[in-house]
This record gives sequence, structure tokens and C-alpha cells, in this order.
Amino acid sequence: MLDKIIRQADLLTLVDDMARKCRIIGPVAHSVPGCDPPVRHFYEEVERAAQLDLYFNYCVYSPKRFLFPATETLFNFDRSKGGFVAEPVFEHRPKAFVGVHPCDIHAIRLLDRVFSQDERDEHYLRRRESTLIIGLDCPRPCTDGVFCRDMGTNHAEEGFDVMLYPLDGEGGERRYGVVFGSKEGREWLLYSHRGESPSVADERGLEQYQQAKEGAFAHALTTRVDDLPALLERSYDSLLWEATARRCYSCGSCNLTCPTCYCFNVYDDLDVSLTTGRREREWDGCQLSEFALVAGDHNFRPKPASRLRHRIYRKAKWVRERSGLAGCVGCARCDRACTAKINSVEIYNQLAEEV
Ligand code: SF4
Ligand code: SF4
Repeated sequence: MLDKIIRQADLLTLVDDMARKCRIIGPVAHSVPGCDPPVRHFYEEVERAAQLDLYFNYCVYSPKRFLFPATETLFNFDRSKGGFVAEPVFEHRPKAFVGVHPCDIHAIRLLDRVFSQDERDEHYLRRRESTLIIGLDCPRPCTDGVFCRDMGTNHAEEGFDVMLYPLDGEGGERRYGVVFGSKEGREWLLYSHRGESPSVADERGLEQYQQAKEGAFAHALTTRVDDLPALLERSYDSLLWEATARRCYSCGSCNLTCPTCYCFNVYDDLDVSLTTGRREREWDGCQLSEFALVAGDHNFRPKPASRLRHRIYRKAKWVRERSGLAGCVGCARCDRACTAKINSVEIYNQLAEEV
């Protein structure tokens, strides 16, 4: 059921209004001559709605870094006056993500869970709590190779404040069917006095949209997502890990681009005085050779094959079993980033053939 209908021009005006009060982060097109495709999109902070391209296919990276930056200071410390004083550093300027696809919404749901279960990670959660998420549904796969349908992440029922469904409008102007996901999302649109009530024809338009979408997303995996944990359980000793990982450079690009990777490293950065400094954290990646290096110079996953298996197990088995949420959202960013052409779908399908 739709809550509202909003025209593209009204939406952009609303975003411009918001930009006066908070940071706006959304898809921005950049030309990258010599690359295929020659135009790529990135989630970036913008000053005006006109800088956004809501007709984008996919963004190279997810908006994860605006909630969980690649590097950040956790606290500053000072031992110069005898004791030890630590000042936490929090960044929680209000912001809105505009145009987040369902797969990335699922990934944010996982991050929300990870950073709030057991120990609350205030650095993540304060950023998250000051973020409005305006989702944008995908009528068709954003590019070749994605397997979001298999992962059940090509639509989102929750995890957003507002979801926009792109519907055709008269004269080619795009109209969006709006579904509210939170009180904040509802207030954002209702207080603006923009948008109109959906008509019967609009509801029918949404039904047609959903039917067309159903036909547009094909299955890529030969195994159902619920059966992947059992498949992996039986594939621990498969020769495929070694055979595939022979091509792996252990570069970590797959981790870097993944919206659901959340491992990090923590270290202290001391000033020359050796009495003041900062505790920093930065993204880590399980495919890097030193990821599992511990005291005593022991590396408990020294081979690329064990690291590849670890990554795939986390994505399709362990995280899912622990959180009940998708550990992999099928965005295929890892596959696109991999210069060795190591491909998640091929791995799952080859394992399925083996067993
Ligand atoms: S593992 Fe690959 S396909 Fe899955 S969420 Fe991460 S980047 Fe996307
Ligand atoms: S991107 Fe490819 S080559 Fe690099 S670590 Fe990941 S699987 Fe290995």
C-alpha cells in the first residue's frame, strides 16, 4: 500500500530544503574514461539535489563509509598531567541518504545489528541514529552478475525511513510511489506539504511495477539461500577452495567494497611527546594475509584458500546463523572488484554441483 505519490521535481525540492539543515549523501555520476562502463556512480555528499543522479544503476561502494568510516579516531588521550584522560570523539551531524537500493538497506540492517548487539558501538550508533534513509527500489537488476534475488535482498520491508518506488508519470516525468518506514520518514514528507494521496490507478501501477520486477530478476544460484549454510557445512574439505584461491592475490578488494564487511583493526597513534595521542580504528579485511596473525607470529589462516573459505562461510553461513540477517546481499561488488575474477555465484554453484 502506498502512503503518498511524489513527483521527481517535488522530491528534488524537498532534498534541497533538507540540504539547508543536514548533510545529503546520494549517488553522483563520474566519468571514468577508458573504463567500462565509462560513467560510474559513487555515494557522495552533495550541496544540491541537482548533483544527484537518481537514475543510477549501482554505486561502486555502498554508503557504509558514512556510518562506519574506513578510518576514524575513537578517542584522544592525554597522560601529560599525571593521570590518564580519554576524550571520546563522536561524529553525529544529521544526514540523509537519498537513493539507497534495497540490497544496501539490508546491509545497513546487518551493521545496525552487529554494532548494537553485545557491546553498543557508540561511534557507529550515534552516526546511524542521526541518519534518515530514503530508499529507492530497483525495478530491474542494476547490473549483470548480481544475485540479490537469490539472497532475498532485492526488496526491503524495513530498514528505511522512506522507500520510493519509481513509477512512470505523464509526459515522461518520473513519479515515485512512497511508503513510509518510520515516524521520521512520515514527518519528513507530511510536514513539507508536498506529494499527493495515491489514487486507485497508482495502486494498480504499483502492482504492475511489482509484477514486472518479479519477471526482471532471474535466479543466479542453483541453491536456495536457506540451504547455503548446509551446503557449506558439507563443503569444508572441498578442493574448490584451493583450486579457486590459487588465483587470489590477497589484495582485500572484495572486503573493501563489501557493504556487509565490518571487521576493523584498532591501534594507538602516539604524538612525539609520547604522552598524548589518539586511538584509531580502520577497516580490516579477512582476505589480507596478516588478518589472522596473532602474538607469537602465528597465523591461523596463512593460506589464501583458508581465507577464501572463511569469507564465504561468513557471508552465507555464520553471519546468517548468528544474526538471522543476510551476511551477503548479493550486490556482486566483491566479484566486480576482483581482478582475479573470483566469483561468488560460481563458487556456490560449483559447491552445489560437488555435493
Ligand atoms: S560478499 Fe560480495 S555480493 Fe555479498 S554483500 Fe559482500 S560484496 Fe556484495
Ligand atoms: S578481490 Fe579477489 S584477488 Fe583480491 S582478495 Fe578478494 S578474492 Fe582475492
